[in-house]
Amino acid sequence: MSEYIVKGDMHTHTVASQHAFATIGEMIDQSNKMGLEFIAITDHGPEMTDGALRLHFLGLSRLPEVIEGIRVYKGAEVNIKNFRGRIDLDNSILKKLDFVIASLHLEAIKPGTREEHTEAWLKVIGNKYVDCLGHVGNPSFDFDHEPVIKALKEEGKILEINSNSPIARKGSRENCVDIIRLCKKYGVPVVATSDAHHKWNLCNVEYSMNLLKELEFPPHMILNTSKAAMDEYIERRRKEKTRTVSLQP
Ligand SMILES: [Zn+2]
Ligand SMILES: [Zn+2]
Repeated sequence: MSEYIVKGDMHTHTVASQHAFATIGEMIDQSNKMGLEFIAITDHGPEMTDGALRLHFLGLSRLPEVIEGIRVYKGAEVNIKNFRGRIDLDNSILKKLDFVIASLHLEAIKPGTREEHTEAWLKVIGNKYVDCLGHVGNPSFDFDHEPVIKALKEEGKILEINSNSPIARKGSRENCVDIIRLCKKYGVPVVATSDAHHKWNLCNVEYSMNLLKELEFPPHMILNTSKAAMDEYIERRRKEKTRTVSLQP
């Protein structure tokens, strides 16, 4: 029976993003101290002011699956660079990662129209290497929620409810409320994330969880409340990423 308690964090930054302050080792130690079971390391893609190098992601992909008892999902928070959905890591790297969040950042793209933002999310959902949409409630990148949530449902993908949004992206709450309602309506799972930039904020998901609880979002649809559910999602996505199109008529 699921509860509103997360077992790991799916959006964290390390010193590889220069305005974050912990190493991967420190984040893993902190995960153990907090009794967590897994962590996703998701540093910024290279085309951001503080983005990690392409080689960071390649090296990351070679780390063991489990370190000091913690399942480490190798990830990235890639930047959406244009409204046709270009992201800033190439497929040869993306396919080696476990969990790719795609986000719109003011530092990486100038806001366009509501239609353009909607188009960008739809394009990114169609990218087979993207696993999750990042902080979609950001009012700077307003979009039509319903078609995007429906597309997530069709592609079997998820979005995050980011607990750093009230600080980093003021005015997100109203959008998040509507987005959570639509995810509930269409059966789109989410992850509740901290977007921690230092170890003392790891798994601080209070804001997201309170919001989800308030809106009676089913806890079993918050995938990071269960390692089994998280692993199942990662494994299904891994298969989808490696599937090749059959050429048979
Ligand atoms: Zn971000
Ligand atoms: Zn982030």
